[in-house]
Amino acid sequence: MAPDLREFVRDVPDFPKPGILFRDLTPLMRDPDGWQEVIRQLSAVCERLQPDLIVGIESRGFIVGTALATAVRLGFVPVRKPGKLPGEVTGVDYALEYGSDRLEIHSDALADGSKVLIIDDLLATGGTAAACAELVAAAGGELCGFGFVAELAALEGRRKLPEDQPVESLIIYS
Ligand code: IMP
Repeated sequence: MAPDLREFVRDVPDFPKPGILFRDLTPLMRDPDGWQEVIRQLSAVCERLQPDLIVGIESRGFIVGTALATAVRLGFVPVRKPGKLPGEVTGVDYALEYGSDRLEIHSDALADGSKVLIIDDLLATGGTAAACAELVAAAGGELCGFGFVAELAALEGRRKLPEDQPVESLIIYS
């Protein structure tokens, strides 16, 4: 029987700030059967959506995205915090609860119009994934959907994402 992914997630109260219940996926990454199941389920998403490339968001999106890209034999493109990529970059600024942040991608990475699946570990308010979708468009890519290991549904992150795009989350916390 396939392992229940939820059993491997550790709830950490008051991290990183008081009042926040952090869903820690590291025990899931540590378990070979649990992790294989994550990649199996996300591979099935790739089978359906047929991306040309996997785009992963720094930093936990790199862990999920590179494992998936390798499993489905697709290339991987990193979306990074500012100042980390060596080549010419395209960037998008986005608002946080307090202040703002920025994501960058190599300008030539999607210039051929590749169809991409955006991968991150977790969808919370949706600000990060929405900014990444904007970035993919700005860099010339074509989005075909989003894949997350977990989603905090109460934060309604899906509402920030483009309406016409499939959003696949393996674990949904209501
Ligand atoms: P959002 O922009 O509010 O959707 O936050 C999503 C980003 O924050 C993702 O890149 C996650 O890695 C991170 N994140 C927010 N909450 C959690 C959590 O409970 N567990 C793991 N990562 C989280």
